[in-house]
Amino acid sequence: MHQGVLSAGDRLGLPDLLRKLPGDSAFGAHHYEVVDVKTSGRTRSDQILQVCFYSQLLGEVQQRAPEHGAIVLKDGREERFAVADYAAAADEVVAALRQLRDDPGAARPFLQAGCAGCYHDQRCLGELGKAQDLSLVQGMSHGARAILEGLGCRTVVDLATFHPEHARQRGNLDPTLVRRLRRGAQAHLLGKPIVEERPRTERLEPAAILHLLADPYAGRVLAMGALFPATEAGRFEWRRPQQAGDEWQALRELVAGLPPRSALLHFGEALPRWYEEQAFAREADPALEVRFVDLQKRLRAAAVYPRPVFGLADFVSSGLGRDPLRAGHAGAAALWLGLPDADARLEQKLRTDLLDLATLKAQILDAAPTPLAADGPRAVLDAARPA
Ligand code: SF4
Repeated sequence: MHQGVLSAGDRLGLPDLLRKLPGDSAFGAHHYEVVDVKTSGRTRSDQILQVCFYSQLLGEVQQRAPEHGAIVLKDGREERFAVADYAAAADEVVAALRQLRDDPGAARPFLQAGCAGCYHDQRCLGELGKAQDLSLVQGMSHGARAILEGLGCRTVVDLATFHPEHARQRGNLDPTLVRRLRRGAQAHLLGKPIVEERPRTERLEPAAILHLLADPYAGRVLAMGALFPATEAGRFEWRRPQQAGDEWQALRELVAGLPPRSALLHFGEALPRWYEEQAFAREADPALEVRFVDLQKRLRAAAVYPRPVFGLADFVSSGLGRDPLRAGHAGAAALWLGLPDADARLEQKLRTDLLDLATLKAQILDAAPTPLAADGPRAVLDAARPA
């Protein structure tokens, strides 16, 4: 059944499909289970919760709890799961939503990865900034914010000078966490990253940076670029695979122009995940994969940023003070394909992202630790105070 309407009490749901199965229910000698159709390649937790929500509604409507729910992915695969495994989490979400409905004033924003794509970001970010909310600090969690506020440490300024002496004074938070959060508050007030003291890891030279622009809905790589050496003066090359079958060749051509043992720096999971899928279907050279080095992990470990950092755009804006969208939004790249200047846009976006990554490497990974300890937090507050 397509687009059945499920209504019970204060809840309403429109699942994509209801599948008819044998077994008694209020409808007779059959009952239904929920099947939702998604454009993603893997199931996400929010999609599973959505199906659980529908399944609970359906259970009330047909007076029989469906045992399973299912999600159909973009490649036609169906992932079926036991509703009971996720029922407790779904109950928690429904309870939180009811609480929010009953007392909207109690809702408080918390800066998180989803804010960048949320309709309410302008309102929430303004509110957070005005209150100097602790969620503006990199590494903050809901739990840590609640504990710190309970201790009277309510704003970023409070946290920048928060020096509890005993476990009780820090609400039994881990001392390393408190130190890192305090550094995060100091970085926020300074408006620039604080590069941490850290053990020397292996050198990343010679190194190239690889980067790709993808269409996650079509599961396609739209363009791929390389910068060698991994500096702003490096040589930029790029390829635009015209179809899925050309993607592997595009990578091979880019890598062929690099020194054989150079480290292949990339940002996040996109490149290794794509590589894994491609390598599975062909005779891939295992020596290539071991050259991959994730810049995102290294950048995160090397410094404390003035704001929480989630994706590349956050590292660029927080780490470099640059507009990460000045060459367009990577998420819009698929929409450029129909434009007459599609090639120019893709090239410019790749080039800009690669240069940003090279600058992050130079200014964060290759930089000396920020000399802050000698001055202490007072100096940070003085530096952050308007003239
Ligand atoms: S911007 Fe959206 S996701 Fe972020 S706190 Fe506000 S409502 Fe929540």
